[in-house]
Amino acid sequence: MNFALTPLEENFRAELRQFCAEHVTPEVREQTRSGTLHNWELHRKIAERGWLWGAILSELGGGGRSPMEMAVFTEELQLACAPIDGIGNIVLVASVILELGNSFLKSEVVPKLLNGESLVSLGYSEPEAGSDVAACRTKAERDGEQWIINGQKMWTTMAHEADFVILLTRTDPELPKHRGLTMFIVPLDAPGVEIQPVHTIGTERTNATFYDNVRITDNWRLGEVNQGWQVMLACLKYERGFAGGQYPSAPLIEAAKQYAQSHHNSEGTAIIENPVVRERLVRAMIDLEACRVLAYRTAYIAAAGEQFGVEGSMTKLFSSERYQQHCNWFLDMLGPEGLLQWGTAGAHEDGEIEENWRHAPVTTIYGGTSEIQRNNIAEHRLGLPRSR
Ligand SMILES: Cc1cc2nc3c(=O)[nH]c(=O)nc-3n(C[C@H](O)[C@H](O)[C@H](O)COP(=O)(O)OP(=O)(O)OC[C@H]3O[C@@H](n4cnc5c(N)ncnc54)[C@H](O)[C@@H]3O)c2cc1C
Repeated sequence: MNFALTPLEENFRAELRQFCAEHVTPEVREQTRSGTLHNWELHRKIAERGWLWGAILSELGGGGRSPMEMAVFTEELQLACAPIDGIGNIVLVASVILELGNSFLKSEVVPKLLNGESLVSLGYSEPEAGSDVAACRTKAERDGEQWIINGQKMWTTMAHEADFVILLTRTDPELPKHRGLTMFIVPLDAPGVEIQPVHTIGTERTNATFYDNVRITDNWRLGEVNQGWQVMLACLKYERGFAGGQYPSAPLIEAAKQYAQSHHNSEGTAIIENPVVRERLVRAMIDLEACRVLAYRTAYIAAAGEQFGVEGSMTKLFSSERYQQHCNWFLDMLGPEGLLQWGTAGAHEDGEIEENWRHAPVTTIYGGTSEIQRNNIAEHRLGLPRSR
């Protein structure tokens, strides 16, 4: 087996490293502490380089960068801690519109997304529909050439920066759960849309969005009426490894190493000399390497023209669960002072470890919880029976 990347992929990596060194400045990273993992200036620079178009498959009219190139893209930006949470949604929604959408959506929405002008948020989850997203109750009713939308979505991340939301709605309550759904793209400035902030324990800001008699024309429908579940399946297909960050532990390990090297215990021995600390640091580094090969395996399967499914779950489950474990280990290493947040006198490593520790639990929830990923792996890889 040859694990080496091609010269094209390596050149792309070098280009990305240079880009990150220039544009992902400490100020850009610092800004993520506002809770919004997006920076317009950086986003436009990424778009100017054609990397958003590049992420779209060539058969859909995009630049067709290979899955391996996209794995390099995600890896380099994530390792640089670039705030790029908007990009995964853009690639996903633009791809689905290009595959299943009408000409209006293709000309009205796709260029704005891929030229870096607009963001789109994902309006799937509701207060009573998360893992079981098909339990969606937000209603869309036909009124001549228009649709009237009423309901509430929960966790509509990035809606406060976005121009659009891809919205899963129920159009026929009489049909079985998965068959009465229809997908829309809804402009977030439409009258009747309300966006309320939800601040998570992990600093990240997300939103609750409310739809009160929101009227849109039929042009905004994505896919056929009552075929929303097919559109959802296409959405999952196009996530292309963006969901659930594979390398969240990288900056954490760096901060932990820094602390262990520069601090001493009461006997004057450097913390890094402690065998438990050393073992945990090394295990975390090995885990990070495992995250990398899992991500590349997913890309490799996609590059071979096959549809990955369980591999995405494996990567997401492993990286988020290990990240949470690493956070616990390193917070433990810091002792009680580890709980001091950034900006507080005495906070170690600028509060980096504490911040990650608060953030880690949500990574095991969004993009599908760990239990859902385990079910998926158990059923579709290990051949175990369905639990529910
Ligand atoms: C910070 C954040 C950002 C998010 N961003 C978005 C977004 O942008 N757009 C969006 O649409 N959604 C978003 N989500 C929602 C996210 O996808 C859901 O929270 C997630 O799918 C879980 O759904 P739920 O919260 O309703 O929990 P539930 O589905 O109610 O689950 C509760 C518990 O039951 C377990 N459980 C549920 N079903 C099963 C089962 N079949 N087998 C075993 N255990 C099960 C779960 O694992 C969990 O532990 C976000 C969530 C968070 C926290």
